[in-house]
Amino acid sequence: MQPVSEAAAVVNLLDLDLESLTAWCAALGEKRFRAVQLFRWIHQKGEGDFGRMSNLAKSLRDKLAAAAVVRPLTLLSEQASADGTIKWLFDVGAGDAVEAVFIPESDRGTLCVSSQAGCAVGCRFCATGHQGFSRNLSTAEIVGQLWFAEHHLRQRLKLAAGERAISNVVMMGMGEPLQNYHALVPALRMMLDDHGYGLSRRRVTVSTSGMVRMIERLSLDCPVALAVSLHAPTDALRDQLVPLNRKHPLDQLLLACSHYLESAPRDFITFEYCMLDGVNDSDAQARELVALVSGQRGAPRVPCKFNLIPFNPFPASGLSCSPRERVLAFAKILQDAGIVTTVRKTRGEDIAAACGQLAGEVQDRTRVQTRLTRPVIRIEALPSGAP
Ligand code: SF4
Repeated sequence: MQPVSEAAAVVNLLDLDLESLTAWCAALGEKRFRAVQLFRWIHQKGEGDFGRMSNLAKSLRDKLAAAAVVRPLTLLSEQASADGTIKWLFDVGAGDAVEAVFIPESDRGTLCVSSQAGCAVGCRFCATGHQGFSRNLSTAEIVGQLWFAEHHLRQRLKLAAGERAISNVVMMGMGEPLQNYHALVPALRMMLDDHGYGLSRRRVTVSTSGMVRMIERLSLDCPVALAVSLHAPTDALRDQLVPLNRKHPLDQLLLACSHYLESAPRDFITFEYCMLDGVNDSDAQARELVALVSGQRGAPRVPCKFNLIPFNPFPASGLSCSPRERVLAFAKILQDAGIVTTVRKTRGEDIAAACGQLAGEVQDRTRVQTRLTRPVIRIEALPSGAP
């Protein structure tokens, strides 16, 4: 936290979870209940003007005006899909822009939030991964996507007082959230805080490509629902699709998932599986997956649910989506093995807001184009006698 005594150190209060805001207010000589009032103004009412925070003493409002701001993200554009999905593009400076997507359904409103400008993981099937990586977002930039969406939608949808627009948050936008752990955790705490957005831990999901050590830290620091981008039943194939697998292979990943469930708010892990035609979608691979998650391949058994995602093709990927009947046949093998399996409905495809399509604008500071210019994926034949 920056010292408030320095005139230049103006703090963006969107960066501070309630614990940090309480400490910051204490440095101004203010008690905790003042921090709670301020936090509620910012996150529950969407107020960024200290002068309008009517239950704060004038002396505190003056101190705040001198030492702090509530600096939201700058909106660059909005696109609305025919299916009600809305995609916002936010400027985060230096030529970088990130996207957030609102997905309305009859019983929920889900916001898909970005954690980085670009992504360094470089998954083959992901548009963000093909852009490379610029930088981590700050806590304010992560929670600022929710701050904007919640308060913008309340007005736009003319919600009654106390009604919320966003009931679920998924950290599945641009970036690998666990590679930006220090900014992510305070943002999650603000989402969960009853004085903030008051979301249930079960309704906030962190999606990771498999950062094993950080999964274990998250289970201690802020256990929320966990989704893991699996995409392959074997290390040989996953090494090609999700490069992080070379560092953290499947047995380590499944062990981390199994440990995570000891403190998770749900009693299952969601495995995301992008359906790639002729790459990871055969009956034999579905049976390999069943064997993997049910503990027959040496890794621990992991209670889980599968979410099959029809691949959204983009030109640089060189991949195509599995035909619908292949996706359904694959799902049936998992379902017949007793695994809850859903096929994700594609939302916002017409505005490039569907899974794996988010691209924003990123000044790539990595050599992603070189890394991803590799031969087409080679599928190893499964050994004879494989299930
Ligand atoms: S799928 Fe996720 S982790 Fe992989 S490149 Fe895309 S944003 Fe990064």
